[in-house]
Amino acid sequence: MSVTKEKKLEPLAIKRDYYQMIIDGERVDALSKETEPTFNPATGEIIAHVPKASVEDVERAVRAARKAFDNGKWRRWPVGKRARVLNKIAAIMRSRFNELVELEVLNSGKTLSAAQGQVMQAIEDFEFYAGAIVGFRGEVNNMPQGFLNYTQKEPVGVCGQIIPWNYPLMMAAWKIAPAIAAGCSVVLKPAGLTPLTAIVLTEICHEGGVPPGVVNIVTGPGTTVGDEIVNHPDVDKVAFTGSTPVGKDIMEKASATLKRVTLELGGKSPNIVFDDADLDAAVYGSLFGIFYNTGQSCEARSRLYVHENIYDEFMERFVEKTKQLRLGDPFNKETQIGAIISRKQLEVIDGYVKSAVEDGATIVTGGHEVKVEGFENGYWYAPTIITDVNHSMKVVKEEIFGPVVVVMKFKDEKEVIELANDSEYGLGSAVWTKDHGKATRVANGIQAGIVMVNCPFSAFPGTPFGGYKQSGFGRELSVEALDLYTETKSILSYYGSKPLNPLGV
Ligand code: NAP
Ligand code: MG
Repeated sequence: MSVTKEKKLEPLAIKRDYYQMIIDGERVDALSKETEPTFNPATGEIIAHVPKASVEDVERAVRAARKAFDNGKWRRWPVGKRARVLNKIAAIMRSRFNELVELEVLNSGKTLSAAQGQVMQAIEDFEFYAGAIVGFRGEVNNMPQGFLNYTQKEPVGVCGQIIPWNYPLMMAAWKIAPAIAAGCSVVLKPAGLTPLTAIVLTEICHEGGVPPGVVNIVTGPGTTVGDEIVNHPDVDKVAFTGSTPVGKDIMEKASATLKRVTLELGGKSPNIVFDDADLDAAVYGSLFGIFYNTGQSCEARSRLYVHENIYDEFMERFVEKTKQLRLGDPFNKETQIGAIISRKQLEVIDGYVKSAVEDGATIVTGGHEVKVEGFENGYWYAPTIITDVNHSMKVVKEEIFGPVVVVMKFKDEKEVIELANDSEYGLGSAVWTKDHGKATRVANGIQAGIVMVNCPFSAFPGTPFGGYKQSGFGRELSVEALDLYTETKSILSYYGSKPLNPLGV
């Protein structure tokens, strides 16, 4: 078996035709030499190729990650030195900001402004964890006289990390930054549709000074490469973001080796507009809540509940603004709505809209594919608003993952909390009201990991991100994530001067 290797990981141009994987600090092809294309969803064109890895490549990557963890180099470095590397990674990303944004737009079809925000957040994630890890430590506990107990936070080990296509670079940062901050080593598998910026981030991690084997990336199908990561006995933890069915499958398989598992899965997040809300803020926030990232967000606010007293006024403005949203060239600063990730995903979205029509719902606007001039071979879907729906309909119960919102009326606080909670999911939620008491009661009543009060944004570095119910468990983006990349070791000692003789022998 011959493997193409480079002695040193020299920085390459961010945009190129072929991106190798990184295993054990070296750029490598798949052992089979197979490759696969990756596309620009806005044009349907091939933009580059990546290795198509198989189970043997996962084996190599896990071996490298295991070796890097066991030799202890990275995890035993003084924490300040690890933090310096994370800051260096962030600094390199900052220096290549525009190139990273360009590659993200090309591989995902998202708008320039969305990609800019997400690349910036990826950078800030590394900066956040560089700071957070320095203050992260165990505790000294109260003990009876003569005994000492302290806890130590030790890295969990080799972490398999599997991420989706909707935020290719940001998800990679959410996963890699806390794991390596904690001292773990990583085998990352990006989504088949969007491997490029995650590969470049892995390269930058090495340029920033991460030792070989600490951050490895393997590109290939979820059903083989992802599956092997989940099954491999030398992987200690799996962190997954993606669909709920795959999450359930992963949890089941991980039980065979009792891996630690964190799951960030789907959602069907409620967005509640009361009659005392600031209507401008509520309209802008509701548009952003569903149409940002072309609705391809796990925390998309896809169920909109509007108080009956303001329903007509709110809807008039919400529908009018939705009709004005501009689809088109993702690199054009005026564009507000990017492409759908793939033809397959577009068909899934359209299937949901058709099911709503069959169930008797009304399509107020959108509900169809769009041909965008100059981008005729890309995947575009009109921002869609659906009314006359109820909680028995598929379009209200299931995650669509596209620019489609269902809208319902409500009468009072109690009713809307019940409606909001009538879902298998519990990831995001939003409430719009000027009444602080009402906002607090609703926030307390909602079963979701995130509540946005008069706020369009769901996350910043430092805020815990994750779900209740079938939206998964574990929290990312926050100090809590560090807990989930560490084990707590409890160390007990006796310091009395007389020997203890508990058996009385
Ligand atoms: P997915 O199938 O769950 O894929 C997510 C990741 O898991 C990808 O890297 C995928 O690899 C990998 N994977 C797939 N099957 C696997 C398996 N059996 N074992 C291990 N890894 C596996 O999600 P998707 O296909 O990208 O999107 C489908 C739906 O997932 C969406 O419509 C949406 O509902 C949901 N989704 C949720 C989020 C979120 O942030 N919560 C993000 C994206 C999608 P491949 O790419 O190679 O298949
Ligand atoms: Mg899939």
